Amino acid sequence: MKLTILKETSPGETRVAATPESVKKLVGLGHTVTIESGAGTVAGFPDKAFSDEGATIAKTAATALKGADVLLKVRGPSAAEAAKYPEGLTVIALMNPFAMGDVTDALNAKKLNALAMEFTPRITRAQSMDALSSQSNLAGYRAMIEGAQIYGRAMPMMMTAAGTVAPAKVFVMGAGVAGLQAIATARRLGGVVTATDVRPAAKDQVASLGANFIAVENDEFKEAETAGGYAKEMSDDYKKQQAELTAAHIAKQDIVITTALIPGRPAPVLVNEDMVKSMRPGSVIVDMAVAAGGNCPLSKPDEVVDVNGVKIAGFSNLPARLPADSSSLYAKNLLAFLPLITAEDGALNLDTDDEIVTAMLLTRGGETVNERLKS
Ligand code: NAD
Repeated sequence: MKLTILKETSPGETRVAATPESVKKLVGLGHTVTIESGAGTVAGFPDKAFSDEGATIAKTAATALKGADVLLKVRGPSAAEAAKYPEGLTVIALMNPFAMGDVTDALNAKKLNALAMEFTPRITRAQSMDALSSQSNLAGYRAMIEGAQIYGRAMPMMMTAAGTVAPAKVFVMGAGVAGLQAIATARRLGGVVTATDVRPAAKDQVASLGANFIAVENDEFKEAETAGGYAKEMSDDYKKQQAELTAAHIAKQDIVITTALIPGRPAPVLVNEDMVKSMRPGSVIVDMAVAAGGNCPLSKPDEVVDVNGVKIAGFSNLPARLPADSSSLYAKNLLAFLPLITAEDGALNLDTDDEIVTAMLLTRGGETVNERLKS
């Protein structure tokens, strides 16, 4: 099939949906790959690196899309972009499926088949395709690095002839994929780490990384994980108990990294204004949930807000701050997924009852087909 990769258009998006390595593999499988000129430049992949592996470089998006079967993107298109795509094109991207607005109508108007990488089911067979995990992992790492950079002190304990530097105390709220990587990174940097989550499975994972687990472990906690591995929204009573437990702890922390998300819902508030005010000047909060409304109501997307000397950082796209690695893992996720929609002769085949494809397919031939978008 003919695969096209376009330059990302969302502000601040530095990633690209293919790398020279993934292009080499796609071409080796018999596909034709066209890349819009400059698509990989910011991520460190110049046009020549792609053409050396067999890709054709197209000057404009419109030229790149001519005759394409499948468009591979990092971010889903805007409605205006979708309206310019050739009719019947298949688009695979991080579609932001719970906030598509008028994009869905635009996709259906052009009979575009859209597949959302976010809806990759959390089953063993799909692990290599799970872009949320690959990107969250890097985001968690980067959040800790950014936090350490904003924090104006050393992270590890240092015993010197001139005196001892105390280690930084790091508290990670939400110990999923991103949180666990933030914990591991904080430990590598020498911080003293604690973490919390509402899913009981997180407890052992946190301990295995050498951090201490703190949580309200009541009956609701025991039931907090969905069959899909995600957290449920907790009751007001649970949230109150959680806030009481964490309030005293947060006051003593140097760096707090919040990662808590609930798919399709606004992020839960975990660090309220009083908690921020209880923190020491010079301490740092990195709110990884800022794009979903934030775990701290004072965080602002892509700003570092100063509240009485406490710095609250709200990077809305942390993977884009590591574009070579995040593009490389994302391209591998796509590479792992494509065989599921490829017929034996190499042509595109969406007529499959594979549960992974069904879970990811949002629109097809002018209709919204995904149950999660209909409810
Ligand atoms: P996520 O990004 O949706 O949420 C981040 C974390 O925030 C989660 O651990 C969640 O439990 C936590 N959280 C939500 N509400 C909270 C609250 N009120 N207080 C504290 N924490 C809260 O989740 P994620 O990181 O993508 O995934 C969660 C888990 O799913 C992972 O840890 C992993 O074990 C599992 N997983 C499984 C597979 C697979 O089986 N293929 C793939 C990826 C992840």
